[in-house]
Amino acid sequence: MRSDPSQPAAPLTIFDYNGRTTAHTARRIMTMAPGAAPLADAAVIVRDREILAVGPRRSTLAGFSGPVMDHGPATLVPGLINAHCHLELAHLRGAIPSGLGFAEWVRRLVALPMGVFDQDAAQAAAREMRTSGTACVADIATRHPGAAARTFTREGLDFVSFFEEFGFAPPTGDTPSWPADLHGLPHGLFADHVSVAGHALYSTHPDRLRAAKAWATRHGKPFSLHLAEHAGEVALLADGTGDFAELLRKRVLPRDFRPPGRSPVAHADALGLLDEHTLVVHAVHVDDADIRILAGRGCGVCLCPRSNAYIGVGRAPAEKLAAAGARICLGTDSPASNTDLDLWNEVRYLLHHWERISLADALAALTTTPARMLGRENTLGMLSPGMRSGVALLPADLEDA
Ligand SMILES: [Zn+2]
Repeated sequence: MRSDPSQPAAPLTIFDYNGRTTAHTARRIMTMAPGAAPLADAAVIVRDREILAVGPRRSTLAGFSGPVMDHGPATLVPGLINAHCHLELAHLRGAIPSGLGFAEWVRRLVALPMGVFDQDAAQAAAREMRTSGTACVADIATRHPGAAARTFTREGLDFVSFFEEFGFAPPTGDTPSWPADLHGLPHGLFADHVSVAGHALYSTHPDRLRAAKAWATRHGKPFSLHLAEHAGEVALLADGTGDFAELLRKRVLPRDFRPPGRSPVAHADALGLLDEHTLVVHAVHVDDADIRILAGRGCGVCLCPRSNAYIGVGRAPAEKLAAAGARICLGTDSPASNTDLDLWNEVRYLLHHWERISLADALAALTTTPARMLGRENTLGMLSPGMRSGVALLPADLEDA
């Protein structure tokens, strides 16, 4: 079988999880293996997300008798990793207008039915990610990590479902307060795919954050934390002032809250939350000292540029973070603060708004770097035999980026 060039373009992810072994050929394959140059006129043989062989077209296809899909002038890359999403908010797409600023965005969000898990919306969101090139999702779940896990599994996606600790109640022990939603999840799914996150320094008891991080460390799992997303967070932690502080005092902040008098990054560091297994999300309001801490601790720094623009919180100093050696990842964030879940649109946004970014940098932020952060470096982010990264098609408009 050979694809008919008159057919419409294939979806941007070309693993379809149907158990068939298929070869894909193209003008160029970027394997993302360290130091490897792009392969010209190449082939990759895939079954579901598993890479069976990759290399020059002629030698890779020698002896292969299965179906071959020729992608002509396209470039094939490993399936992408979305390093920050909230699948449980999938039904709130478009429910909050853009540009309101963080405090108003939160006011609107908590007035919406954010506690329900809309299975149809979640499944459609997972499918949107898969068909736009995503192979793995680092997903945050405040209430429904089990439902999210089942949804990703049905869609054939790899994932880490981070149960998110939230609130100023102190921890009750050294195990996260797992929600009932996780009960009955098959043990393998829990062991391989569930971890714990902290919501944010301004919303969650510091001991609860420390206990969550300690649990993740004991179990060899990644930890995630929203950090330095907006100016209100900076003001609250610096001296307890600002509109956002007033909003929080009405909702979540304890009466005896004392601002630590530090930047969000410095405070997270003082709490021992930052290391090479922590995925810091946003890092918009960071100064040079913060950037040195993030790079020095080896944290993953997940930028969500379109979410930041949608809410109107500012723009992360991505160039400085990259220059300092921070391990940059990319995420869409939730559909409540983005127009879609297509990671290629994050790349298009970055190429338009950043200085000095190359396609190779953007691809690393979507493949090898988040794979390492999530402990998936042996299975994701690279096209080499034995990996389970799936294959994605680079959109034609990014070919010359
Ligand atoms: Zn988030």
